[in-house]
Amino acid sequence: MPEDARYRKVDLHSHSSRSDGRLSPAELVNLAAEQEISLFALTDHDTLDGIPEASQKAKDLGISFVNGVELSTQWKGIPLHMVALNFDSDNPAVLSVVKKNQLIRLDRARRIADLLVKQGLPDLFDEVVALAGESQLGRPHFASLLVEKGFVKDSNKAFDRYLGNKKLGQLRDVWPELEDVLTTLSGQDIELVLAHPKRYPLTVTKLKRLLSDFKKWGGTGMEVASGNERPDSVRLLERLSVEFGLKASVGSDYHGPFGPWMQVGKYTPIHGSEVDLIWQSWH
Ligand code: AMP
Ligand code: MN
Ligand code: MN
Ligand code: MN
Repeated sequence: MPEDARYRKVDLHSHSSRSDGRLSPAELVNLAAEQEISLFALTDHDTLDGIPEASQKAKDLGISFVNGVELSTQWKGIPLHMVALNFDSDNPAVLSVVKKNQLIRLDRARRIADLLVKQGLPDLFDEVVALAGESQLGRPHFASLLVEKGFVKDSNKAFDRYLGNKKLGQLRDVWPELEDVLTTLSGQDIELVLAHPKRYPLTVTKLKRLLSDFKKWGGTGMEVASGNERPDSVRLLERLSVEFGLKASVGSDYHGPFGPWMQVGKYTPIHGSEVDLIWQSWH
């Protein structure tokens, strides 16, 4: 391990246009280079499509690159994201989970379109599929369409009014169980990281229960810093990562140039002194 591994500029959570990000994989890695990132992972939602382009660009620019993907799951009926990192591109277990989630995405889009029709909107299914094109179809594509058609003022309003987890109550249980995904992927030298733990509707007690299950089912890490998390949340997550023996990961969860507060490599700083940084064991 290089001596400076602890101090590298690291971003292990980001999105390209292959899912719901704005930039192409190559543009994203270019931006990472501009931000002086030295270790980078592309973690698109439920797809590995951007990885070849991103890893080639990273190689050209001298950035260390690890394969990543953000997987949609559910735990106790709550939609929950985990990030798999540092796997081989042809890992059959990863490919099978990704493939399954891609089918769910398409089926869910049909059901979302139906729910919107019930709320008096036109059937947007064909258009949303066309809009997503080669990208993994997500709710942000619905949001863009609703804005474009003038049904809502902006994407936030689209989530507030139509697309948020509360609004899509019946569609909460579409994703595979966290336990099944973790046990499918565990024991193969893949980092299995709970994404943005403070973004779920969980009390600290419930979050601890989740972390305990996550570890028990084979999880290896958790994000302690994700984008512009509150500093006190980051401190709490650092303590929890130590308490539950989950390695600490960090990431911007960058989706595109939507505002000055988001940037590749930008997240609330961690103290890091007692946590086990997940990338320290990588070569
Ligand atoms: P999906 O993967 O299709 O369930 O869509 C989830 C994605 O939508 C997240 O990864 C975010 O990028 C985006 N998102 C979720 N909630 C909101 C929100 N309230 N406002 C804007 N974007 C959101
Ligand atoms: Mn997203
Ligand atoms: Mn997420
Ligand atoms: Mn993300």
